[in-house]
Amino acid sequence: MQDTEALREAIVSMRRDIDHLRMENLHAHLLLATQDAALGVHDSDAFGPVFAALMPAFDCSSILVLLEQDAEHSMLRCMASNCPELTGLTWQAGPLLQKVLAGRTISTVADAQANHWPAQPHGKLSPTQPALYLPLTVQGCRGMMMLTRRSDEPGFDRGHVELARKLSRRSSHLFAARQTKLSEADSRRLRELNDKLQSSHEALHFRATHDQLTGLPNRTHVQELVTAMIARQQSGQTLALAFINLDEFKLTNELHGNVAGDALLRAVASRVQSQIRQADIFGRIGADEFVVALDAAGQRPDVTVVMDRIRAQLRQPLSIQDTQILPSASIGVAIYPSHGTDYETLRRHADLAMQHAKATVKGSVVLFTKDLGRQAHERLTLEQHLREAVAAGEFCCALQRKVDIRTSAITGFEALARWVEAQGSVRMPGEFLPLACKLHLLDDIALQVVDDLARHLPQLDARFGNTVRYSLNISPDQAVDSGFMTRLVQHLPAGQAQRFIFEITEESLADTGVLEAHLLPMLREAGVRISIDDFGAGYSSLSTLAALTVDELKIDRSLIQCINERPRNQVILRAIESLGTALGLAIVAEGIETEQERNFLLQSTAITIGQGYLFHKPQLLRDLVCNEGQTQVVCRA
Ligand code: C2E
Ligand code: MG
Ligand code: MG
Repeated sequence: MQDTEALREAIVSMRRDIDHLRMENLHAHLLLATQDAALGVHDSDAFGPVFAALMPAFDCSSILVLLEQDAEHSMLRCMASNCPELTGLTWQAGPLLQKVLAGRTISTVADAQANHWPAQPHGKLSPTQPALYLPLTVQGCRGMMMLTRRSDEPGFDRGHVELARKLSRRSSHLFAARQTKLSEADSRRLRELNDKLQSSHEALHFRATHDQLTGLPNRTHVQELVTAMIARQQSGQTLALAFINLDEFKLTNELHGNVAGDALLRAVASRVQSQIRQADIFGRIGADEFVVALDAAGQRPDVTVVMDRIRAQLRQPLSIQDTQILPSASIGVAIYPSHGTDYETLRRHADLAMQHAKATVKGSVVLFTKDLGRQAHERLTLEQHLREAVAAGEFCCALQRKVDIRTSAITGFEALARWVEAQGSVRMPGEFLPLACKLHLLDDIALQVVDDLARHLPQLDARFGNTVRYSLNISPDQAVDSGFMTRLVQHLPAGQAQRFIFEITEESLADTGVLEAHLLPMLREAGVRISIDDFGAGYSSLSTLAALTVDELKIDRSLIQCINERPRNQVILRAIESLGTALGLAIVAEGIETEQERNFLLQSTAITIGQGYLFHKPQLLRDLVCNEGQTQVVCRA
């Protein structure tokens, strides 16, 4: 019996131990799960996994984390809950909750009078629910975890309270550890992220402000740097801004390829860099355009000396891929403050000076002057004016007669472009053709001239007969542009192409292959004749002429001028005449101004057709068709 009693006691004791062990085991499990959850990296919801671990262990329906929000007024706020709608609720920490805050774990049973419930009642929470409060410190903030069961469930037992007590201590440590750990990890991550951001920001900034090829500051950055440099200038100090442009860079690219072009640009960068000081600014602002700003230019050797050194450096031969390139650059310089007090004005003026260098002596250094500025301003105004005039169709045709120099009878007309401005003034080709050519407006102008002529052709025919031929001037660019030439032929009055002669200059003969292969066959087929204009003024040799099948040769005015007094010109004229005759060409002498010139041609040459002020000056077509005077017309066969 005693044995039986002893055995029973032993068994009870064993059971207690086993229960204890089981409880310990449960605690261990729970604590481990909580610890894992707390140390997890669920940043967005740090409590979620903790709640998930606690719910089954405590057999509770809701868990809330209340943290002290306002210690002075004893206010607690629900920071997290497994029921999201409970977050944000506030509690007035009455005596019971104050005890919890002070570190005690407290279990309460259903109590309709309880005064430890939220300040704002909430349907999900009611004083009739059993609750377990365990103190908690989160991020150094006092608070508690509140676990509740449904109203019809029993209160939490001692085991749960015991467990809650342990959990309370562990959880606070865990949260603290997690916070420290997190903040360390976070700050390390943040630091890394920051470093990355910083370096990518720097890389991005560098990319945005520097040229990739040369590593030099780019256009926008140069502007910022020079603007800052100008702002630093003290009164009396000067600053020089140079605009460097490579000569024939396009050609280098075309001849030697882009790799060579890139190498040249890099060489320019390092060569210029070697000639300037640390405080100076040097950047690439365009494909082959560089800007140098010399700091406090007045306190250093003459700017032109520095520029000459740069120029000389740039002219050094450069070997790229077994090819030797002989680079050169034109440089324009503007000085602050006399040529401008801001970057843009200085750059523009230095650019103008550079353009002047290019137009006069390529590869030279030119200092900006007010005169250059004025000329540029006039050019710009004219450019604008010219564009507007082309758009408004202000170009028309003037005609100068070609005559038989013996009888003065008309053999044909040369059409010459005239710009009749809105207010009535007439501008000559010399004033607008070069610019029109540069602005690619010449084709439009030529078509306006032809249209004017075509429009008036019936009246001209009525007056001069319908067998008279008309000559049109074709620029060298146009002569090799088969698209334009086709358009021009299409603009000629229908069925009248054989009455037209296209005058091309000696310059157009540079590429006789293109002419013979494309232009001449097309024109011949249309019936248009070809004349070589201004012959003897250019460089084409007589043999070049022999290689082409043209119809007429117009001898330049420079050869005809005072021909009676110039034996050397007389020899050249006779040589041209005999070649032209041998080739079966009609020969026209241009610019006959005096009786002496005409008499020489009549007596010493067989030239019969001439053009010049001696006979007639060009006349605006509209004036010509209004003039009803008597005219003798001779038609060429
Ligand atoms: P060009 O084709 O040699 O035309 C003859 C130029 O010499 C005309 O000048 C004419 O007015 C001028 N001239 C004629 N006889 C005399 C003379 O006895 N003495 C002097 N000093 N000059 C004389 P313009 O009209 O000023 O034209 C100049 C040049 O402009 C033309 O030279 C021609 O190359 C070009 N041009 C005129 N109209 C056009 C056009 O519609 N298209 C193209 N591409 N060029 C044109
Ligand atoms: Mg002409
Ligand atoms: Mg001419």
